[in-house]
Amino acid sequence: MRYIEPHAHMVSRTMDDYQALAMAGCRAVCEPAFWAGFDRSSVAGFYDYFCQLTEYEPKRAAKYHIAHFSWICINPKEAEDPAFAREVIQLIPQFLHKENVLGVGEIGLNKNSKNEAAIFQEQVQLALDHDQLILIHTPHLEDKLKGTKLTIDMLRQFPQLDPGRVMIDHVEEHTIQQVLDAGFWAGITLYPESKCTPPRAVDMLERFGDTNRLWMNSACDWGVSDPLALPKAILELRKRGFDEAAIDRFVYQNPLKFIQQSGVIWEW
Ligand SMILES: [Zn+2]
Repeated sequence: MRYIEPHAHMVSRTMDDYQALAMAGCRAVCEPAFWAGFDRSSVAGFYDYFCQLTEYEPKRAAKYHIAHFSWICINPKEAEDPAFAREVIQLIPQFLHKENVLGVGEIGLNKNSKNEAAIFQEQVQLALDHDQLILIHTPHLEDKLKGTKLTIDMLRQFPQLDPGRVMIDHVEEHTIQQVLDAGFWAGITLYPESKCTPPRAVDMLERFGDTNRLWMNSACDWGVSDPLALPKAILELRKRGFDEAAIDRFVYQNPLKFIQQSGVIWEW
């Protein structure tokens, strides 16, 4: 079985995790820029982080023959100080045209605040200005439905935006339909505690499985999360009777189709 892990925060994982991913059939990981568990105190902290994502992490992944791609942005949790966030945004273009960068992400809303919304919209514009793909984080449970609606409403303010180049991640049963109906891609995140378990994810695939605009990911980071959540979902798919061609589409071809729109070159 081959698969792509389309959302993993590998800077917070060990080499053991890379080894386990490789042994489970992972061919590529995609790593969005995110909150590091604490607020960075300087713009230079973000510069170093973007270098780590684009220069150092691909070398770690390569030790296990896994391709590594990244997304660059300032995340919503650190967007509450717009002046600071705008200084970080000025750093982003120099990273966007690196050969292993997929686009701008994961941007979005966390607490659905005004400042988050402003910085989100500015980064959507940045992505459009530089012809980049967009990866969107949707808020946690209590704010998810409202935050997803707000996100889609804001995206509709950009008439030149192609929804086929936007992934809205962390969808759940109550948000997936509106994301797909609006023409965007939808990401299902598999988490041991919050977010979605593999059986719930497969329930969603059974209901919405015709779509070619879906991917699943572990979103593993420094918190309680499981870098092998995707192989566990593959087992669940087999148990439910999905054939190997359908599984390959969900866990390999779909993510590949989305990321290839960025123009990244991956020799496989
Ligand atoms: Zn994430």
